[in-house]
Amino acid sequence: MFSETAPLKLVNWEAKSEATVLNIRGVRVGGLEVVVMAGPCAVESQEQLLATARAVQSSGASILRGGAFKPRTSPYSFQGLKEQGLELLAWAGRETGLPVVTEVMDTRLVEQVCQYADILQVGSRQMHNSALLQEVGLCGKPVLIKRGMSATLEELLLAAEYVLKQGNEQVILCERGIRTFEHSTRNTLDLNAIPMLKKRSHLPVIVDPSHGTGHWWMVPWMSKAAIAVGADGLLVEVHCNPEEALSDGPQSLRPSRFDTMMKDLRQVALAVGREISDPRLDRKLSTPRSKAQGVIDSNR
Ligand code: PEP
Ligand code: MN
Repeated sequence: MFSETAPLKLVNWEAKSEATVLNIRGVRVGGLEVVVMAGPCAVESQEQLLATARAVQSSGASILRGGAFKPRTSPYSFQGLKEQGLELLAWAGRETGLPVVTEVMDTRLVEQVCQYADILQVGSRQMHNSALLQEVGLCGKPVLIKRGMSATLEELLLAAEYVLKQGNEQVILCERGIRTFEHSTRNTLDLNAIPMLKKRSHLPVIVDPSHGTGHWWMVPWMSKAAIAVGADGLLVEVHCNPEEALSDGPQSLRPSRFDTMMKDLRQVALAVGREISDPRLDRKLSTPRSKAQGVIDSNR
């Protein structure tokens, strides 16, 4: 149950009666459309990033993901290309026109990541880092907060509260699975979180089925389920050659499977009164909706 001692002041419906819709370089998050953010776990090279970006874009993804600074469990695992990764992301974003989302792990790096990214990701391991939350709250860019792997929904909302308290209302919440006793999946994707967060907060809520399951073949199933329970978007890992991926290959979809998934997701979206952009159709990417009155524009 949500406690009385930790009241929400800014992220809840009492603070704002309209759903928050972000406008990230023309991509609306939190509106009628289900927004798919896709790309590799980690930026590995120029070729890898551009090939993946073009592939996911042609299937209907509207935001490119990619890690430049990787929070790895082992210090001996690939840590990311760091600033070079950021440069490649910004370049791929310009080449394709896709906004880019990438993780910032450290307060000292917020300014640097801000120069390249359109959305700053606060990862699962950093959700409790209140100094980082305050710093991204001051940066003026949209912030995607991933639920800590053992965080309650109230703690996730309070993490968002830190960002809003700094004057930054452009926040997206992300369910990415929690740690349970179950070991057959990497995490247990808590789909309860979506209706509960949407009941409690006006902020958009997305789902990461890649980290939520750890298995590429489960990603299409759980993506469908996420849309059915009201998710405003998905964050999906895609790699052209998952066997060779420097991180999270086992949970990464090949572009061809991602493409098939996107076609199936459009049917689910339609069934629940939502839509997913289809670049093969010549139509406007987003549809105006009464809910969109609360649009927050991130364009500067
Ligand atoms: C990621 O999305 O790249 C990531 C590291 O995810 P999480 O913080 O959810 O583990
Ligand atoms: Mn990953």
